[in-house]
Amino acid sequence: MTVFHHDAATPAFLAQFVEAARFSFRRYQLMVGDYYGIRWMPNYWMDHQPPPEGGLINKQGPIADLLPELRDLSRDEHPFPFEYVRQYDTMFIQPAVYLESMLREFRIAGGTVLVREMHDLREVLDLPHTVVINCTGLGAKALFNDPELTPIKGQLTFLLPQPEVEYATILPDGLYMFPRHDGILLGGTHENGTWDLQPDRAAEARIMKAHAECFQGMRNALSRSRF
Ligand SMILES: Cc1cc2nc3c(=O)[nH]c(=O)nc-3n(C[C@H](O)[C@H](O)[C@H](O)COP(=O)(O)OP(=O)(O)OC[C@H]3O[C@@H](n4cnc5c(N)ncnc54)[C@H](O)[C@@H]3O)c2cc1C
Repeated sequence: MTVFHHDAATPAFLAQFVEAARFSFRRYQLMVGDYYGIRWMPNYWMDHQPPPEGGLINKQGPIADLLPELRDLSRDEHPFPFEYVRQYDTMFIQPAVYLESMLREFRIAGGTVLVREMHDLREVLDLPHTVVINCTGLGAKALFNDPELTPIKGQLTFLLPQPEVEYATILPDGLYMFPRHDGILLGGTHENGTWDLQPDRAAEARIMKAHAECFQGMRNALSRSRF
C-alpha cells in the first residue's frame, strides 16, 4: 500500500520514497521478532483484472528486491475466487506491541514524556529545545496554519483474533485484510477531505460483505480439495 497520489508524485519525490523504503527495510529487518511485534508475512493481491502495469508491487519496479517471493500465481496454485493473484512477502508491524517497545526504549535511554497541548506557533517557537519535530498529524493544520493539509478518513473493522491466519489479502477497490495478534483487521476506505470521526456503518457492511464473499469462495475451493 502506498500513501501518496501517483499523479502528483515528482521524480524527486519518488527517488526519496524509494530511498526511505530501502532505509526502513534494512532497519526493520534487524527488528523482526515478538519484542518489537514485527514479522514477515505473505500478501496476496487479487482481482478479476490483470495487475496494472508499473507501480511498486511489480517485478520491474524500483523496490522489487524488497518484496521476496514476488510472483503471479496460476489459477491452480491458489484457492482465492479471483482470476489474477500476485503474491509477495513483506514485513508487518503490530502497532500495539511496536509503539509500547519504542516508548520503553525511549524511557530507558533517559527520555521523558510530557503531555501538553500547543495552541499556536508562538508556543512552539518558545520551547527551550534546539530541535522540535512536528508530528501533530491533523493538528498541524491549525497549529501551522497549513492550507494544504487535508484529512483522509479511513475506517477499520476488527474481528476476533484468529492466530491461524498468517497472510494478508488485498482485494479489489482497495479493500484489505491484515491479521494481527489483537484481531483481524479489515479495511479499505479513503474519504478525502472528511473530518468526521463517526464510523460509517454502510462502509462497514460493504467491507464485511466483500471479505465474506472472498473467504467463502476460498472455503468452497478448499472443500473441493484442490489445495
Ligand atoms: C484506517 C487507517 C488505517 C491505517 N493503517 C495503517 C497501517 O496498516 N500501517 C501503517 O503504518 N499506518 C496505517 N495508518 C496510518 C497511521 O495510522 C498514521 O500514519 C499514523 O498514525 C501517523 O502517526 P503520527 O504520530 O504522525 O500522527 P497521529 O497518530 O495523528 O498523532 C498525532 C498526535 O499529535 C497530537 N496533537 C495534535 N495537535 C496537537 C497540538 N496542537 N498540541 C499537542 N498535541 C497535538 C494528537 O493528539 C495525536 O496524539 C492507517 C490510518 C488509517 C486512518
